[in-house]
Amino acid sequence: MVNTTAVVLEEQDFILTSLSPGRRQKRLALVVVLALLAALTVAPVSNIQLARVDAVVPAYGTASFVNDSITAVLLFAQFSVLRSRALLAIASGYVFTALVVVAWLLTFPGLFAPAGLLGAGLQTTTWLYILWHSGFPMFVIAYALLKNAEPTKVGGSAGTAILSSIAVIASVVSLATFFIIASDRLMPRLMIDATHIAPLWTYSVGLSALLSVLALIVLWTRWRSVLDLWLMVVMCAYVTELSLNLSSRFTVGWYASRACGLVSGSLVLFVLLCETTFLYAQLLRAVFAQRREREARLMTGDAVAATIAHEVKQPLTGMISNADAGLRWLERPIPDLEKAKASFKNIVADGHRAGAVIGSVRAIFKKDTRSRIQLNINDLIEELLASMRSDLQRHRINVQVELDAQVPVTRGDRIQLQQVLVNLITNAIDSMVSTDVKRILCVRSGVNDDGSVLVSIVDTGSGIGRQDADRIFDPLFTTKSDGMGMGLSICRSIIEAHDGRLWVAPNEAEGAVFHFVLPTDRGAIA
Ligand code: ADP
Repeated sequence: MVNTTAVVLEEQDFILTSLSPGRRQKRLALVVVLALLAALTVAPVSNIQLARVDAVVPAYGTASFVNDSITAVLLFAQFSVLRSRALLAIASGYVFTALVVVAWLLTFPGLFAPAGLLGAGLQTTTWLYILWHSGFPMFVIAYALLKNAEPTKVGGSAGTAILSSIAVIASVVSLATFFIIASDRLMPRLMIDATHIAPLWTYSVGLSALLSVLALIVLWTRWRSVLDLWLMVVMCAYVTELSLNLSSRFTVGWYASRACGLVSGSLVLFVLLCETTFLYAQLLRAVFAQRREREARLMTGDAVAATIAHEVKQPLTGMISNADAGLRWLERPIPDLEKAKASFKNIVADGHRAGAVIGSVRAIFKKDTRSRIQLNINDLIEELLASMRSDLQRHRINVQVELDAQVPVTRGDRIQLQQVLVNLITNAIDSMVSTDVKRILCVRSGVNDDGSVLVSIVDTGSGIGRQDADRIFDPLFTTKSDGMGMGLSICRSIIEAHDGRLWVAPNEAEGAVFHFVLPTDRGAIA
């Protein structure tokens, strides 16, 4: 059974609105709040009248509209994943501000028409501003209250929920704008003329600021996520903006207030974009890592299958040639029972080897070190050459054995080291069979310069072209029509797992020499 809670939690780890802020985020939020507090220091000079820059209002309005619309879209996208009522509420809040900004811009005196468009009067713009700055904190409060409320999920289609919210908000904003414009003359006066505020303005702005403080408190008592944190900062920006907006238009306070307004409008958008990009990068990394892991697993699967096939093929070939030899000894006019018996014994040995090989393939991939014992490499070489004798004779290979009696004792997995020798000798036979030269196989053991065990398999075969020298140890690289390309890669894995080294060099005349070294067993008496 799938643990749905765990799955949901994992999904939510990648959703900004449910992601907890890190220490850096918290620190950054604190810096922004401190900067906002610093902005309040202009309050004493806020009444100073500055030059009238008409471009400020349209620039500020357009920027706010674009920021709020994009933020709403991003929040709706998050809502469509999480279906949380709280998210729907805050996204609707941004739709609300984006639409009120449009009305605010259209009715602003002197922007599109001397008294503003839509038949606006002197008071319209300021009341719309109050609607904007009181309305949004209410959406934040709704968001904070709905966040932990049960049930939080919206059923049905996300598209329908989003479109319905937009429709409701658009209707509310249109109706409110219509009402404010229609009752302009009846509304309490917030403006004395186009640039000067009336005393009531201060109380209205104060009320909006109080609502923002209330939203801040409600959020503070239940904040958890990145979005909660930055909405709290937005509310701080609202309070700062409103506190600075107590003087007439085009004063220091008014310009500073517009700047804070821009900050509050862009904050959540900025954070959503940064975090989305960051999470996207994280997600990409996770996907790539997963893909690499899958490929590695497939490669291991392929390699295990190829290794088993490759390693079992050799004892099977040995069994067939020993069985052939045994039959030939028996079919003679005077059967040679001793030789036939020897062949059958070889078949039994090959059978055991095939069984052991399968076991050791597991060990190769698991890097199992439990089956390592003290061993003398000379004994291993002799045993192996004896078991491959019929193969070597069949291919008319002249075998030279040069074993150094002083060779130190090493520690290793008998079956695995046998596999290395079998692979290297079989490759040597293959390379000599394909040429017309005198077939000489030399197997040497000795003591390396650093005291470790050195084994060399020398052949007079085709040798290894310079272009292949690097690739022959790669898994699945082969130049043989029936080759699998696993032999040398397995040999290298085995030798390296024994803390040794395997390499190839050209033979003096022709052919190749494969050398490997194995460390001595320190605790052993040679
Ligand atoms: P396979 O024997 O299945 O091809 P290996 O990994 O054992 O796989 O060998 C890879 C390739 O290395 C061989 O196809 C061959 O081209 C080359 N090679 C290995 N040993 C020798 C050798 N003694 N002489 C010449 N070429 C060799």
